[in-house]
Amino acid sequence: MRIAVSACLLGHACRYDGGSKPHAGVIEALATHETLPVCPEVEGGLPIPHPACEIIADNPLLVRDAKGEDATDPFVKGAEKTLEAINDFGCELAILKAKSPSCGTGKIYDGSFTGTLRDGWGVAAALIRDAGIPCIDETQIDDLLN
Ligand code: SF4
Repeated sequence: MRIAVSACLLGHACRYDGGSKPHAGVIEALATHETLPVCPEVEGGLPIPHPACEIIADNPLLVRDAKGEDATDPFVKGAEKTLEAINDFGCELAILKAKSPSCGTGKIYDGSFTGTLRDGWGVAAALIRDAGIPCIDETQIDDLLN
C-alpha cells in the first residue's frame, strides 16, 4: 500500500520548533509499505523554526501564529501542495500527526494558545479527508498493526 505520513513522525526535524516527533509504531508499520513523507507547513513555505500557529476559525478559515500574525495563506498553500503530492503518488491512506493545525485528525488546539483542544481538523488533513483518502493519526497505529 502507498501511504502518506507526516514527516515529523518519521523523525524529520520539520516541526515549528525545529524538532521532530519520531513514532516507533508508525515507523514499524510503514516498513513494509511505500511511503510518502509530507510536511504541509514546509510545503507552504513556512520557515523552520516559526512561531506556533493555531486555527482561530474554520469558516472562513483563519490561522494565526502566537504573535497574532495571519498565517492562513501558507497553511492553505501547503495543504494544496500536499494533496497534489499525495494524489501524484497514489496514496490510499494518510498517517498524520495528531493535534497539529495542519495535520490533526479530529482534535486540534482551539486557537487560544492555552493548550486547549477542540473537535476539528488541521487544514491539510481536512483537504486530504475531503479528497476521499482515509486519515488516521499516530494514536491509532496499533489498530492498523493488529
Ligand atoms: Fe509534522 Fe504536519 Fe507539523 Fe509538518 S505540518 S511538522 S508533518 S505535524
